[in-house]
This record gives sequence, C-alpha cells and structure tokens, in this order.
Amino acid sequence: MSRPRLNQGLVQVYTGNGKGKTTASLGLALRAIGHGYKVFMLQFMKGSKDYGEIQAAEKYLPNLIIVQSGLETFVSKENPSRADIDLARQGLETARKVISEGHYDLVILDEINTALDFNLIELDDVLDIIKSKPRHVELVLTGRYVPQKITEVADLVSEVNLIKHPYYHGVAAREGIEY
Ligand code: ATP
Ligand code: MG
Repeated sequence: MSRPRLNQGLVQVYTGNGKGKTTASLGLALRAIGHGYKVFMLQFMKGSKDYGEIQAAEKYLPNLIIVQSGLETFVSKENPSRADIDLARQGLETARKVISEGHYDLVILDEINTALDFNLIELDDVLDIIKSKPRHVELVLTGRYVPQKITEVADLVSEVNLIKHPYYHGVAAREGIEY
C-alpha cells in the first residue's frame, strides 16, 4: 500500500436541499487526486451508468473508483422495494470494508444521508463506521436531511440551500450538468 496522504482524516457532510452536494464531493475528489490521493466513492440509491462522473472516472481517473449500490429507478420513500433495501445494505457493507482496509485516502458515501432518511439503512451502523474509521481516512457523507447524530460527530458540515433551481422553471435534468 502506498503511503497515506493524511495524518488525521476528518468527517465531512454536504447536506441541504440545493444543488451541489454530490458535485462538491466530486470537486474534492478531483483536488485530492491531484495530490496523489486514492479516492473511492460509493453511490447509494443510484444505479445508472449515465452519470458523467462514472464515465470520467473510467476513462480518465484511475485513482477514482465509483461503485453504485442501487437500482436505476427512483426509490419510493413510503414503500421501498426489497431490492432497494438489500442494495443499500450491501453498499453499506462495501463501504465498511473499503474504509476499514484503509487503502483509500478519501472515501465518499454519496447519498448516504438520503438512504438513512428513506430508512434503507440503520443510523447506528453508519455511526459505527464513522467511529471506527482508520485515522488517515477522510470521509465525506452527502445527501439531504443529515441526521443530527451525524452532524454531532462530523468535523465539517456544509448545507447547500435552495434559492433558485431551473427545474422549477421547467428545465429538465441536463446531461453533463445534473448527471
Ligand atoms: P448535484 O449532483 O448536481 O451536485 P445534489 O447532489 O446536491 O446535486 P441531490 O439532492 O442529490 O442533489 O439531487 C439529485 C438530482 O436532483 C441531481 O441531478 C441534482 O442536480 C438535482 N437537484 C438538486 N437540487 C435540486 C432542487 N432543489 N430541485 C430540483 N432538482 C435538484
Ligand atoms: Mg446528490
């Protein structure tokens, strides 16, 4: 294993109802890779390869690994499918393993807050992963509605607030911008 990049990795959260949480974590990934970090992103509740970041990582960024653990379809908050729950739990196990092995300097758990909000995974399991992470690993959790218990243990919490979004003026999701 190559030398860890950080002596002390921290826990960051990007939350809120505005656009920019997942893309902020990808910006951080790009910056970190420039300094020789190895980055692992696990995307909860996503299963489409149509995201630009997946194409970019595969084509141009050998030090950015992105794994998805969800279906291509939207998850119903009231009535998630068995597969939605199973995939989210499998994703959490993958995250636990990847973090504990310590090979990656930066680990991003994308939409993990959303998976918690939809009750696909257990808060105690996430808190346990945070608590037991190796010292040198920087951990980023994204998604709306972060639970207070996570903000309490995090070192950095940024909230992106919705002021305007073109979606509300009839602009559909755009390739390269929203996905
Ligand atoms: P991005 O991936 O663009 O950084 P995000 O991670 O902050 O967005 P999510 O809450 O994960 O946003 O939203 C999922 C999708 O909805 C993304 O395609 C995002 O661009 C879009 N989106 C984000 N905020 C809003 C909003 N307030 N209204 C409508 N669509 C939004
Ligand atoms: Mg997101």
